[in-house]
Amino acid sequence: MIKMMIAFVRDYFRYREEVRKHDKWIKKFVRIKGYEINPNKMLYTNLKIWLAEMEGIYGKRYCPCFDPSGDKKRDQKMICPCKYIDAEIEEYGSCHCSLFGKPGMSKKEWKESANRLMGEYRVKLNLKGDVLDTRGMPVDKYRDLPIPDASHQLKSTLLNFKGKELKMIVATKQETVNLEKIAKFKGYEYSVEPYDDGAFMVKLKVR
Ligand code: SF4
Repeated sequence: MIKMMIAFVRDYFRYREEVRKHDKWIKKFVRIKGYEINPNKMLYTNLKIWLAEMEGIYGKRYCPCFDPSGDKKRDQKMICPCKYIDAEIEEYGSCHCSLFGKPGMSKKEWKESANRLMGEYRVKLNLKGDVLDTRGMPVDKYRDLPIPDASHQLKSTLLNFKGKELKMIVATKQETVNLEKIAKFKGYEYSVEPYDDGAFMVKLKVR
């Protein structure tokens, strides 16, 4: 928890300009659509920070919960506010990332929405020593993408990882492309090699 708080403060100061920019379009969007913004200030700020980070890494305002798939049409749909927002609000009351919700959501409903989101990222990671096997995660039915994806698994792992180099097994070429972009953005040394069953082993020097 303390590490998460430190990361929050660090990222808030790093992205404060971008956070303001995202705040503007989000508020305008909900006025037009009649949706509501998550009233949890910390989660809302984090979501804006993550949007800023996605924009910094990929050059587009992709959904903070999913890395690009490499399929242009699908990725276009994942620019926030994504094409799935109305269907998800209809089904769950809020969008996948719990940024937007239907009007009149109660505190309890927002809490359930945030818990649903956090639950997806609290799955047990397949980390053995310094090798993280990212394969085999559940798949989101709207986007047909894993949750948590490789980069979100990387984020969770690094909160407690003490080593210098993390090895990540990923199932697809696109995940290596995404991880290379993340590595460039974060200043990690990156290399990749083929692994069993058509997978890839990405090596990241994180310190
Ligand atoms: S799920 Fe929510 S936060 Fe993610 S892109 Fe869609 S609207 Fe934006």
